[in-house]
Amino acid sequence: MSNPPFARWLDRAQHRLARANDEWFGPREFEAARWYGDPVISIVCDDGCLSDLSKVVPVLDAHRVQGVFAPVASWVGTSGHMSAADLRALARGGHEIASHLDHHEPLHRRPEHTWQEAFQSSRAALSDACGTDVTTLVFPHGHNSLPVRQAALEHYDSALTTWRGFNRGVFNRYALRRVPFGSHLAPADRDPLAHRQLINDVLARPAWLIWMVHSANPSHDERQIDRLHAMLLLAAQLGIQVLTIHNTWRHLRNLRRAAQRKNAGYPVEQGTT
Ligand SMILES: [Zn+2]
Repeated sequence: MSNPPFARWLDRAQHRLARANDEWFGPREFEAARWYGDPVISIVCDDGCLSDLSKVVPVLDAHRVQGVFAPVASWVGTSGHMSAADLRALARGGHEIASHLDHHEPLHRRPEHTWQEAFQSSRAALSDACGTDVTTLVFPHGHNSLPVRQAALEHYDSALTTWRGFNRGVFNRYALRRVPFGSHLAPADRDPLAHRQLINDVLARPAWLIWMVHSANPSHDERQIDRLHAMLLLAAQLGIQVLTIHNTWRHLRNLRRAAQRKNAGYPVEQGTT
């Protein structure tokens, strides 16, 4: 598109329309999941920036929890971004590597016939780089739509957007909601108690809280690093598990199997994963 303000307007319109469509109709059968059991927190860092290694990984390591790192395949090893060796070291440490696609461009701007190749090639390149299978997708700029999610289904177990919110009750596993941490903050997020309130919320009504991190953003400063420390400490004190996306799905499956064994003969509700 040659007119940048118009392109940005179109992006915003697409984003809002797709979200309204998802909220109005709810997740379709292929993408519907149901939250089950206690709350879980996940921490997902977008873009594969080197700053993740200095600002986020040491915090996660200090609390012995694993995060998710979503590089753009074509950015791996370029200036300011993690190398294949960095990604391999993270994967060896139990962190999850997710795909942020081959290029950092909203899919609705790309011809539909190119989507499958974008999903497949970025998954293959990043799996090769980190040495483990890549099963989670993070949409560039969070942009998605029903046709995009239907196409992603063939290549990934789940996908994350930038749409704000918790994942609880029946939720969309191909449009997992997130809440920003460290940058892209709404005015209410700047309240020092905002993150604690989110944790109180998921304790009161169990949900999957996924924090979205862009550590290269200057607003992800020392104060935000300290806040991440404080929130991970609080989660540990409250017994809230901090898991990768991949491990959260496994956790849900295990909970469901345990419930089925306990209630043998009394089938539990379908649609957990
Ligand atoms: Zn991004």
